Amino acid sequence: MNGILNKKTTKFDIHTHTVASGHGTTDTVTDLCRRASKIGLDAIGISDHAPAFPGAAKESYFRSLLKAPKSRFGIDVFYGVELNILNAEGDVDLPDELISSLDYAIISLHTKVTKPMSLEDNTNAYIKAMEHPNVRFIGHPDDSSYPIDYVRLLSEAKKRGVYPEINNASLMPDAYRKNCRENDRAILSICKDLSLPVLLSSDSHGKEHIANFSYIYPLLTECGFPNSLILNPVSLSS
Ligand SMILES: [Zn+2]
Ligand SMILES: [Zn+2]
Repeated sequence: MNGILNKKTTKFDIHTHTVASGHGTTDTVTDLCRRASKIGLDAIGISDHAPAFPGAAKESYFRSLLKAPKSRFGIDVFYGVELNILNAEGDVDLPDELISSLDYAIISLHTKVTKPMSLEDNTNAYIKAMEHPNVRFIGHPDDSSYPIDYVRLLSEAKKRGVYPEINNASLMPDAYRKNCRENDRAILSICKDLSLPVLLSSDSHGKEHIANFSYIYPLLTECGFPNSLILNPVSLSS
């Protein structure tokens, strides 16, 4: 992951899913890489759901990614995972040695895996999950199903070099997560105060929505969020 953040490229989307996530698409890694190259990205990250998510691939899939090509269709490819946070202790659903070997990890709470807890426990769950190796991003902490102490969470993220994402899928009209716009406003305001950069994510299941941040941009403008605090202010014509 440091690869992407060190390359100074801004044209990437690293929260994407393939058929291996078990829902929403039959597109493969190849399909996503081809599309990312075609629309002008410099890099793509594949972050399929980890095994606790119903229908998701097993640990062996993530081990096989360690041997996958790092460059395809002329762009860099990073192989990560969207881990499920399983409890307030921040346990996740792949072994640490495997997480270390992947390029990066996103940590997320999903209602299909982990029942919402108290505000304190939800916040502790994220903070403790950040202690696992290679966790670089907080997945969609924008869902009121999981109330979060944002000041505490984002202050801890800043200390650890972890970045919150602003998730385009959360802001789509058919989104199932709750109060995301309002929660994103709070996240962006605190990130501005802390000078903590954010990651823009499509959370595309399949190739269709790769690098589609169209619901995020108006919110960034509305909040006066500075471009200098966006890790990937990618702007594409197609
Ligand atoms: Zn997710
Ligand atoms: Zn996702």
